[in-house]
Amino acid sequence: MKRSEQKTEPQTSFDLHLHSNCSDGFDAPARVVEQAAECGVTLLALTDHDSVSGVREAMQAGDRLGLRVLPAIEMDTEWPHELHILGLDIDIFEPGLVLALEQARTRRGIRNNEIAERLKSAGYDIFPFLTGGTEVATRLNIAIALVAGGFAESTRDAFVRFLRKGCPGYFAVERFTPEEVISLIRGAGGIPVWAHPMHGHPEIHALTDQLKSFGLMGLEAYHPSMSEGEADVLVSIARQKKLLVTCGSDYHGANRPGVLPGQTWRVHPALCECRAALEARPTRTLPTRESGKTN
Ligand SMILES: [Zn+2]
Ligand SMILES: [Zn+2]
Repeated sequence: MKRSEQKTEPQTSFDLHLHSNCSDGFDAPARVVEQAAECGVTLLALTDHDSVSGVREAMQAGDRLGLRVLPAIEMDTEWPHELHILGLDIDIFEPGLVLALEQARTRRGIRNNEIAERLKSAGYDIFPFLTGGTEVATRLNIAIALVAGGFAESTRDAFVRFLRKGCPGYFAVERFTPEEVISLIRGAGGIPVWAHPMHGHPEIHALTDQLKSFGLMGLEAYHPSMSEGEADVLVSIARQKKLLVTCGSDYHGANRPGVLPGQTWRVHPALCECRAALEARPTRTLPTRESGKTN
């Protein structure tokens, strides 16, 4: 399907997985929304890693440009491997979620410092090249710093030689369990979705069942890492288990070249159902900074 044809069917032009520079994306939140608008996207979710700090700016940009921006997040969990859960259309001020995000931020800061110190003592000082602060940096930011410092040829090379298990810059962060994250997202009125589910999870059926028993509501069947065949498998699993099917580009701007907002769009009835379900939800509005209240 060509993008020109995609634009003639705006009903299905949506993207529920994008990152800004509030985590490991390159663009500021408003720029992410502008890019998405330029690509014909009319509904999107800003899903920064363990952070909602870009949501306000993104929603304001959405209002300006006439597209709906869902307040959202991507949370890292570990069980039995690293597993990511998207939280779509969440109340970003829900106290349980706010507390958990503070905890995640602290843990991430400790992990990043530890990695940077370990790399430094091995002769690779990335501190001068680490942009954005150690509390929000992801391992992609650390990989970028390794490239900027001339220690790695590419981010891929950085992961292989420095950041994988057994490498000098590996340090495991303490993470929430999927059960905790799913319950946090449900508690914040959101839709928990298993992001890019094929990554390292051969027991996809059993794991989906277990996550569903915790309250999972969707599978991200459409993602750039997924082949057409894998997407078909995930759609059929989602159908069987009565889960929503979502699509996300995992846009990171220049930090992940070659990915554009909306690029994983496919014509599929399951996606039309997902969009309809999202559009049926009342639009969340953010309070003014002064009032501090949510609705
Ligand atoms: Zn992810
Ligand atoms: Zn992501």
